[in-house]
Amino acid sequence: GKRVRILGVPIDQVTMDSAIKTVVVLTETHGCSMVFTPNPEIVMMAREDHGLLGAMEKADLIVPDGIGLIYASKLKSRGLKERVPGIELAQGLLIHCNEYKKSIYLLGGKPGVAQQAGEELMKKYPELKIVGVRDGYFKETEDKELIEEINQSKAEILFVALGAPKQEKWIEKYQQDLNVKVAMGVGGSIDVWAG
Ligand code: UDP
Repeated sequence: GKRVRILGVPIDQVTMDSAIKTVVVLTETHGCSMVFTPNPEIVMMAREDHGLLGAMEKADLIVPDGIGLIYASKLKSRGLKERVPGIELAQGLLIHCNEYKKSIYLLGGKPGVAQQAGEELMKKYPELKIVGVRDGYFKETEDKELIEEINQSKAEILFVALGAPKQEKWIEKYQQDLNVKVAMGVGGSIDVWAG
């Protein structure tokens, strides 16, 4: 698919269906792919945050989330097809993972929230393999140990909910160290799944 620029920030020309299919392909290809779902607020943030923009430039998939109507009309003329909310994309992937027995690691949220989200998701998707959870309030000195834990879990998809721009920068920093197939920034989704 084509990648366009909105206020200088790269965004892929995708639909919800094509985005899900793309992530599925990424789970079957070599290396850790990065998936981001910026909303207009994050697009604005990236204009002033070179670390965030740099991470976005390297994304394997970057979908337009949460676009207001005014923006939507402008985006349409630039070839963006539809809004692809991050949480809906993540849920589409959960359904795929449930069906194809792919494993997931949930990282982020306050202590206990990822655990709760995992339990709720396994009620909803009985075959889902949640192979690890961890809250998002760890120190930088704990990163290495955390990455080892994620790698040992053999998770194929890592959902990272540290808020923007932290999650995008964290994923980009450790892309080469992570043995997952896909690392995706999911903002507040883990909180939503926890209920
Ligand atoms: N979060 C976290 N670690 C942090 C900061 C935030 O795990 O150091 C979590 C927070 O608990 C919430 C999620 O990141 O579950 C999204 O945070 P926020 O609402 O601030 O970000 P946004 O949704 O605006 O991207």
